[in-house]
Amino acid sequence: MQIEPQAFDRVLSSMCTDPHPAARDAAERFLATNPGDPGTYPTVAALEDDAIALLGEIAGLDDPTGYITSGGTEANIQAVRIARERADGRTPNVVMPESGHFSFRKAADLLGVELRIVPTDDRQRADLEAVRASVDEDTALVIGVAGTTEYGRVDPIPELGEIARSVGAMCHVDAAWGGFVLPFTDYDWHFDHAAVDTMAIDPHKMGQAAVPAGGLLVRDAALLDELAVDTPYLESTSQATLTGTRSGAGVASAVAAMEELWPEGYRRQYVRSQNNAEWLADALEKRGYEVADPTLPLVAADVPRSTFDALRAEGWRISRTATDELRIVCMPHVTREMLASFVGDLDRLEVR
Ligand code: PLP
Repeated sequence: MQIEPQAFDRVLSSMCTDPHPAARDAAERFLATNPGDPGTYPTVAALEDDAIALLGEIAGLDDPTGYITSGGTEANIQAVRIARERADGRTPNVVMPESGHFSFRKAADLLGVELRIVPTDDRQRADLEAVRASVDEDTALVIGVAGTTEYGRVDPIPELGEIARSVGAMCHVDAAWGGFVLPFTDYDWHFDHAAVDTMAIDPHKMGQAAVPAGGLLVRDAALLDELAVDTPYLESTSQATLTGTRSGAGVASAVAAMEELWPEGYRRQYVRSQNNAEWLADALEKRGYEVADPTLPLVAADVPRSTFDALRAEGWRISRTATDELRIVCMPHVTREMLASFVGDLDRLEVR
């Protein structure tokens, strides 16, 4: 087969990126391993422990427990599942800001829980009054997002944790995208900062690992036990993951990327990506567009659909928010040159 994969030189919409060379190499070496069967594949199972230890360090969790998921979707589904299991006979509801990722809709559908979606405030963060008004004694989980998909916003996690505690619910933080940039910011987002029980944090996004490598972390090993089922035909006796056979490539590449980049490489990348986002926001503002302040390396601006379509026709991979703004994610593969070339095309193709 001679088909080449998608080149990254015009990709401005993805939350994944070109893996770090060490991550790419590790993925290749572990292609034929299955951490879903640790008795048979002990080397990759040990690597998964290393991955969780490193994720725990990044997310401020001593003694971390968790596993490498297929992505943020699986981590989010599993977090809802844990909370549902803990809800103990009640018909549970889950409270989430409207900025939450659509994977929670899948979770609610699959798990038969009620998803209560509350509005965001004028800074696109969870509206705490609306969250307070939505929780009740049947609330099993309050979700906060640390790095939203559309605007890169960080919800007030400590306050959400307190609201969750006030009704005996758990608190889940979706840091699937933000988890590898937030350690270099002033936000309160992780286990040490707040009453957080579970977290999604994905090496295959800002962590520069190969796909598939998401992460689920839980504060206490007993939480993962809520997911365990017996596994009679495997060498190990139980499994907490959603999928059975899993990618050892994802696990190995996550470890390789984190060993290579945490913390200094990720810090440098954050600075580079954030500077790029601010440069782009400034360039768009100067051209008269309304731009959502890039608090993390993600830019949204009211570029009209006609211009957007013309840019897509030029080969730019760009996407739009639910309220129809252009959205650009400044991932590690996005360079200043790429953005300058994009803005050049925007000037040429702009339809006002
Ligand atoms: N959570 C957030 C905040 C995301 O931005 C995404 C995807 O972009 C997900 C979860 C889902 O992750 P995945 O596509 O790896 O399943």
